[in-house]
Amino acid sequence: MAIERTLSIIKPDAVAKNAIGQIVARFEAAGLKVVAARLVQLSRAEAEGFYAVHKERPFFNDLVEFMISGPVFVQVLEGENAIAKNRELMGATNPKEAAPGTIRADFAESIDANAVHGSDAPETAAVEIAYFFAETEIHSR
Ligand code: GDP
Ligand code: MG
Repeated sequence: MAIERTLSIIKPDAVAKNAIGQIVARFEAAGLKVVAARLVQLSRAEAEGFYAVHKERPFFNDLVEFMISGPVFVQVLEGENAIAKNRELMGATNPKEAAPGTIRADFAESIDANAVHGSDAPETAAVEIAYFFAETEIHSR
């Protein structure tokens, strides 16, 4: 199976709950490695740019407001099948629909304050990783 990289964001709600370590531990336990990481306070423009694909959606402004409400922990995860594996660990977008034991089932408050972001495909992963990290800041091991 291919080794992939994916962008993961621990969103402001989970950072505020002091849950960074608990969430990262789940990635590591599943065989994903943190190969780059940074705590960052997004500007409005950065959050709008990151979620540009959702620009026309009714929840866009709420989403941007939420993403700038506090610092986020951005990281690159690397491992076999990393994109799908991360999405599986995250659970469904709406925590009410997220399977028991998933990150969103355990840490998310609501459909917008839903604890984590994860890239959904190889193309979006490449764009999202480059949005936050230079290749020189990513350390495969
Ligand atoms: P994801 O890939 O599972 O994060 O979900 P999407 O790419 O569909 O949506 C991006 C983010 O927008 C989600 O993680 C939510 O934080 C937010 N979002 C999605 N749908 C809704 C919605 O119906 N209402 C609100 N308020 N936020 C939403
Ligand atoms: Mg998405």
